[in-house]
Amino acid sequence: MSTLEIEQIPTRTDNYVYLLKESGQGRVGVVDPSDAAPVIEALDRLGWQLTDIINTHHHNDHTGGNLELKEKYGCMVTGPLADHDRIAGIDADVGDGDIFMLGDAEAKVFDTPGHTRGHIAYWFPESKALFCGDTLFALGCGRTFEGTAEQMWTSLGKLRTLPDDTSVYCAHEYTQANAKFAVTIESGNQALLDYAEKINALRAAGQRTVPSNLGLEKSTNPFLRADVAAVGAAVGLSADDPVSVFAEVRLRKDNF
Ligand code: ZN
Ligand code: FE
Repeated sequence: MSTLEIEQIPTRTDNYVYLLKESGQGRVGVVDPSDAAPVIEALDRLGWQLTDIINTHHHNDHTGGNLELKEKYGCMVTGPLADHDRIAGIDADVGDGDIFMLGDAEAKVFDTPGHTRGHIAYWFPESKALFCGDTLFALGCGRTFEGTAEQMWTSLGKLRTLPDDTSVYCAHEYTQANAKFAVTIESGNQALLDYAEKINALRAAGQRTVPSNLGLEKSTNPFLRADVAAVGAAVGLSADDPVSVFAEVRLRKDNF
């Protein structure tokens, strides 16, 4: 039993990198280091010693800091088995159903292909924390660069089974733009309208909207709701065929 202290580091234009310190052995992991410098700065400020790099997928804005951090701290790099050849410095592979241990803190790994074919997510049940990279965003989801709509819908379906009180630590601050799109799909969803208003207020005050809450996402995020009648109707399709609804919603967002 070990819980995480989580430090959120904004990098580049809209990335979030996360430092995780577990209480058992004091190991410190970084999730998806886009760049080394902001991570080193945060580690120095907190007085933490990096032991692990934890990657969700191969994109440069999630792995760009891997080699420099590995060289500096001699830390261990864990990443998706399916993307072994595309993760710089990878030491350990994990895939669907595997348990990843950051010291004594246990994470369950899910394969979440769609954005990339090897994308994975890490869920730390004791800390109620989900690190989902570019699969699930607050009110959005990743673009399906390397996968199909069906794969992405299935991947999001896995994350949707997690408890409502899960915090969603996604990798980008895209929420306000996502909200603007989401209300075009479910203009009659009061929970969504309230959430969108809250997001606008947070951004106007220069504040972050991430982490999100999974229960809130389940009731408002159109990409988790392709099997809800109102979402199907909004795109002129039946929610009995959620893959088609999801594909159409994703396409509309791509062109929004
Ligand atoms: Zn990505
Ligand atoms: Fe990204």
